[in-house]
Amino acid sequence: MAITEEVYAPRTKPPVDPEDLAHRELRRDEFWRHIPAFADIDAHTFHSHIFQMRHSITSVGKLMRVLENRVSNDFYQEVAAGLQHAPMSVRISPYITSLINWDDPYRDPLRKQFLSLRCEQERDHPELHLDSLNELGDAPVAGLTHRYPDRVLFLVLDTCPVYCRFCTRSYAVGLNTEDVEKVNLRVNRERWDNAIEYIQSRPEIEDVVVSGGDMYQLKADQLEELGNRLLNIDHIRRFRFATKGPAVLPQKLVTDDAWVDALTRVVDRGRKMHKEVVLHTHFNHPAEITGITQDGLNRLQSRGITIRNQAVLQSGVNNSIETMRLLIKRLSYLNVQPYYVYFHDLVRGVEDLRTTLDDGLAIEKAIRGTTSGFNMPTFIVDTLGGGGKRDAHSYEYYNRETGIAVYISPVVKPDTFFFYFDPLWRLREDIQARWQDDVEREKMKAEAIEAAR
Ligand SMILES: *Cc1c(COP(=O)(O)O)cnc(C)c1O
Ligand code: SF4
Repeated sequence: MAITEEVYAPRTKPPVDPEDLAHRELRRDEFWRHIPAFADIDAHTFHSHIFQMRHSITSVGKLMRVLENRVSNDFYQEVAAGLQHAPMSVRISPYITSLINWDDPYRDPLRKQFLSLRCEQERDHPELHLDSLNELGDAPVAGLTHRYPDRVLFLVLDTCPVYCRFCTRSYAVGLNTEDVEKVNLRVNRERWDNAIEYIQSRPEIEDVVVSGGDMYQLKADQLEELGNRLLNIDHIRRFRFATKGPAVLPQKLVTDDAWVDALTRVVDRGRKMHKEVVLHTHFNHPAEITGITQDGLNRLQSRGITIRNQAVLQSGVNNSIETMRLLIKRLSYLNVQPYYVYFHDLVRGVEDLRTTLDDGLAIEKAIRGTTSGFNMPTFIVDTLGGGGKRDAHSYEYYNRETGIAVYISPVVKPDTFFFYFDPLWRLREDIQARWQDDVEREKMKAEAIEAAR
């Protein structure tokens, strides 16, 4: 029949829909002018890292002084009430503040990541613990987690240019809040010495994730010293600096010459030693990427610095096919490689931001093929209790009714089953009730493990 004819008939692709090129449109307007406190700030001033750091919003009072009557009193009250049940303190850069649509702050995907509203909060999942990935349990020295055989996670400091509501490290990062007393991970010579000594003593370690907190906060000389000390260890073949910075304060890449030069020197020295030093950043939404982001990233690229992205899947932020597709295309356009999309960890006070496993699996299925395979992120579940990262699709068992997924992790811990749980508010009401009952809860978990065997 016509099958062969159809296959072999020459076909022309219809012209591209302009919508499909939206990822190339990067804002270059003076978008901060609609914020009362920034209305008179010119582009040169606004796009300097000093201005951005000095004018960070760190309290509800400050938010009110910056936004004035741009939003309603109800909204401020929602923020203040939300903060009382939040594991993270507030810190938002003027850049991000200005990109939020304050005409509709309740639905804005950038606001949702940094400001918690009381009306949105959901009850915590009964299986939630403060350090849900057990990073402290796998730490041979303070601030260094050695879970995978050949690589370690080194938390070099505990501050960030912004504080994200959804931070997995809310057990350590940022100031204490009404809700959480933190582990102390300040920049401290002795702690750094101990961590480096440990890495030195373990020949199997080839790879270091330098994270925090956020190394954007390191001074140029601290960054260079740390980079050089790691490069000096023979068996270290590669490491990455992990930073949210380019997504929230891209100005630093354009105006903080000392810092960018220090980073460049470490990368260059590494290259001469045949070692790879790269930057991993953390864009979650395409609206975080503007013209100034492009300027900053171009500067790194022209110096030969590789940049990859790790995003977190969040409800109402990026859990839609269109948003995730646009994010991945925009990152790829700027030659930032979308490496991972993480399912949201179980973090206190942030249940409303979590999605079901099913949400993410469906998005992944729908967008694979959008761009080259090396620019398609792997969707990752970091299993509870320290099983480590798993390809979300690779579950042994997933019950969409109870929201229980079971994974194994042969390299990290053979013969153990690890869980991930969908947020309760996405489940049927009778199932939610079962979760609140201790006996029923254990029964559901035992059944899931049985089914996984
Ligand atoms: C994520 C992570 C790493 C790095 O894992 P990759 O898969 O190489 O990105 C290393 N150690 C810990 C504890 C981690 O959580
Ligand atoms: S920048 Fe990273 S470490 Fe800091 S609060 Fe955000 S997610 Fe946590």
